[in-house]
Amino acid sequence: MQAAHPPSDLDAFELVVGLETHVQLVTASKMFCACAADADLAAPNTRTCPVCLGLPGALPVPNAHAVALAVRAALALGCTVHAHTRFERKSYHYPDLPKGYQISQYTRPLGTGGGLDVDVEGRAGHVRLERLHIEEDTARLVHAAGETRVDFNRAGIPLVEIVTRPDLRSPDAAAAYVETLRHLLRWIGVSTAAMASGALRVDVNCSLRRFGDPALGTKVEIKNLNSIAAVRAALAYERRRQAACLARGEAVAHETRGWDEAAGRTTPQRGKEHAHDYRYFPEPDLPPLVLPEAWLTEQRAALPELPAARRGRLVAAHGLRPEDARLLTRDRATADYFEAVLATDGATRADPEATPPGPGAGPAPAPATSVAAWITGPLFAALYARGLDVAAVRNHLPPAHLAALVALVASGVVTANVGKRVLGEMIDTGSRARDIVDRDGLAQVDDAADLRRIAEGVVAANPKAVADYRAGKTASLGFLIGGVMKATHAQANPDAARRAVVEALERSAGG
Ligand SMILES: [Zn+2]
Repeated sequence: MQAAHPPSDLDAFELVVGLETHVQLVTASKMFCACAADADLAAPNTRTCPVCLGLPGALPVPNAHAVALAVRAALALGCTVHAHTRFERKSYHYPDLPKGYQISQYTRPLGTGGGLDVDVEGRAGHVRLERLHIEEDTARLVHAAGETRVDFNRAGIPLVEIVTRPDLRSPDAAAAYVETLRHLLRWIGVSTAAMASGALRVDVNCSLRRFGDPALGTKVEIKNLNSIAAVRAALAYERRRQAACLARGEAVAHETRGWDEAAGRTTPQRGKEHAHDYRYFPEPDLPPLVLPEAWLTEQRAALPELPAARRGRLVAAHGLRPEDARLLTRDRATADYFEAVLATDGATRADPEATPPGPGAGPAPAPATSVAAWITGPLFAALYARGLDVAAVRNHLPPAHLAALVALVASGVVTANVGKRVLGEMIDTGSRARDIVDRDGLAQVDDAADLRRIAEGVVAANPKAVADYRAGKTASLGFLIGGVMKATHAQANPDAARRAVVEALERSAGG
């Protein structure tokens, strides 16, 4: 079906995209009642009460913690937070909506303006936000075996909806926005933002216009995309479909479409010729939402240093490369861990040029760049192999333990390869590096006399390789060095092993 849309059409049109993202807030209970907000863990329809089932006479009570999390999200996104807002009823009839309306915010949303810095293919960009408001989730329809059932566990779970201006111009940019937003929401702890479980869902608004045309084209909405890959793929498909439509001289229909993951295409769901009249009006069962200044100040203070500021500080304070700072800020636990390793008393220091300690002074401190390399390299690899993350392993591998290991390698007590092996055991057992090194005799063999004796033995035992080397086959030098490494159980310093072999060869040639 993709071949039906010639790529040449794409060059004439500009894609214009705005996103509406629904984010489930991390609360114990629902937005307006005391029911547990663990919809996915519970059997269907076991998290319900008269309020969230919309029974007559039941009165909603706002969840203060949900409002706090929504305010934190708005602040982190740079929105103007309005201290005087209100809840409104958005009326429509659908089987997943027990009350016949959804409590939302319309004329006075919690937050307006703001935006998110988003890098697209290495270029810095900015996506402006229109608004952020609080609303309650709907129930879930389950279609199976030819029938449709409804599970009210989700009805009334607290959400924020975050609406962008139409600032995005490509499927990749939209994907990057969702990725950046998800990272920020997790970072500040307001949502799991897990797309697979529906804690973050994206509606896409997109249209095409001829390049240079100031007017926007007819908008198509694609609802409920639940992965970043789906956002990218659905937009790429719509761009081709709408371009083909316009190139044929047809109008794009103003409609809502769904994304058919299996078929890789969007399909029409409903037309928008008769726009919904949601008949918004102030929720009569709730007073206006008034947020005291002191309370807003508390919410601002509860926010951690935001990811962009954290990255900037890691670069400025520790001399890291921006790409390493980005890896270390993949989540807050990792960034905190990195700085905790650096702060370990006496084990590390930020200045790699500082005077190394004299003989007998113990392992030399490792610079921040070494610690960064150990975390983003061997530690990430070891965690990945074990299905763990930094937060999960911090008890087994306290920052001081990693600092000590990095220092052992930096000062040459063990090789980097041995260090990686030791790291695995430290994660698995909680042991200290020095104890593992001492127990297994892993300290590097770089005693010149030892290496000299071992190299001479290897040269004497491999006359064929020695003859090859003398005949100009340089590869046999590697073979002889390998013999030394093997004899030392890979604990020889590789440079020292090489020197010892070359010297042994010179001595045997001379003798
Ligand atoms: Zn309830």
